Amino acid sequence: MPDIKELLDLISGGITEKEEELIKKAYAFAVRAHEGQKRMSGEPYFIHVFETAKILAKFGMDVQTIVAGLLHDVLEDTKTSEEEMKKEFGEDIVFLVNGVTKLGTLKYHGHERHVESLRKFFVAMTNDLRVVIIKFADRLHNLRTLQHVREDKKHRIALESIEVYAPLANRLGMGKLKGEIEDAAFPYAFPKEYAEMEEIIKEEKESYEKNLDEIHKELEKELIKNGVKAVEINYRMKHKYSLWKKLAKRDMDIKKVYDIVALRVVVENIEDCYRVLGIIHSIWKPLPGRIKDYIAVPKPNGYRSIHTTIFTGQGGVAEIQIRTKEMHAEAAYGVAAHFAYKEKNYKKNGDEKSKFKWIEELKNFNYELNDPKNYLEHLKMDFFNDRIFIFTPKGDVVDLPEDSSPIDFAYSIHSDIGDHISGVKVNGKMVQLLSKLKNGDIVEITTKKDAHPSAKWLEHVKTNTAKKNIKTYLEKHSLLSKLKSFGRS
Ligand code: MN
Repeated sequence: MPDIKELLDLISGGITEKEEELIKKAYAFAVRAHEGQKRMSGEPYFIHVFETAKILAKFGMDVQTIVAGLLHDVLEDTKTSEEEMKKEFGEDIVFLVNGVTKLGTLKYHGHERHVESLRKFFVAMTNDLRVVIIKFADRLHNLRTLQHVREDKKHRIALESIEVYAPLANRLGMGKLKGEIEDAAFPYAFPKEYAEMEEIIKEEKESYEKNLDEIHKELEKELIKNGVKAVEINYRMKHKYSLWKKLAKRDMDIKKVYDIVALRVVVENIEDCYRVLGIIHSIWKPLPGRIKDYIAVPKPNGYRSIHTTIFTGQGGVAEIQIRTKEMHAEAAYGVAAHFAYKEKNYKKNGDEKSKFKWIEELKNFNYELNDPKNYLEHLKMDFFNDRIFIFTPKGDVVDLPEDSSPIDFAYSIHSDIGDHISGVKVNGKMVQLLSKLKNGDIVEITTKKDAHPSAKWLEHVKTNTAKKNIKTYLEKHSLLSKLKSFGRS
């Protein structure tokens, strides 16, 4: 059996004696419950739950979640009863384990069941996000041991991870988890493309790193000269799967991807982020249009950082990312960063609640749709696509899918505004109703009583809300005119 110290050492920030006892108790309980069980690899089953708990500890999850990670397969796969577990560990932990068990019992049986399991996911998310995070950790370890699984099953699990788990992790701001899930699934989901990517990375990595090494040294010197303290300067290699996706968008031309390796500067506070940006631009010329201030305007999933791409001098370019320590942790762990060593009181915090409003929407999303194929398509469109943040003139923020139009924006505020939209100003300029909005746009809508939706809009709008409202309006309208003509005859 693995040494429990491996797990305890991963819990940073310190735990109380009582918490350590609880983890030790769960460890012993799980070892006993899974005794004699083996994984496909021939390893003792306990290794799987132990590794799952380790992943959760790495994500900085609270002790209850780590304990639930150790126990997550006990109710499903062993003879241990719920009562027994409740007596030993209390209601909260049993609630988490039950949540994971319920998510797990829905096996893939074609499209319909797949959609059903997605719904379960969203319901679980609104009940307690930690259930989903345990499921993520469970999936990640299963992906890492996928070589032992049957061939057809391998492909299905890998694809499902890329199509469902990774986008969800991304929406929760868990960038590190998203990258790890995708990279673990990549070789099984798309073996040929994976091999190609390995080859490209091998060729490019060295020259990029050498290039960044020189920039690193020069930047460090300048920072010291200007009295700016960097907590950390390091490289990050782009995850293989996201590199492949980006390359596919750029005609597979590696020269068009600037951030295969990026230099990351972590500083103490936001002020220093901007000072570092100024220093960088005084040494190297930035590429126009590549300066992205996600601190002033964060990405919809909460990601904050400043990105800039510079000309390095020898004809090359390099991306530099600047952020604070907090942003660094958040970028990796997303919502999980908010759970770390906190009690469950995150639910009471109004701020957090509005931040995850979309999860609530997800749960109630299109329940009336009895056509699973449509459900999945709408879901992909409304929730899994990249999102943009649009501002009202007062500074309120609306979160919309990429390529949304002012009409989508209007309907997301109120159906009445959408039904009577007559004109729109984006960043102070009049634009077409069907134009595409960009992240950070300020949108001002004017309405008129006699303005109304047109059937043509249906082809252009992106959100389900807009579509539904337009259809309702059109149906009502044509019904009314029929009634009117009926009355006249
Ligand atoms: Mn499991």
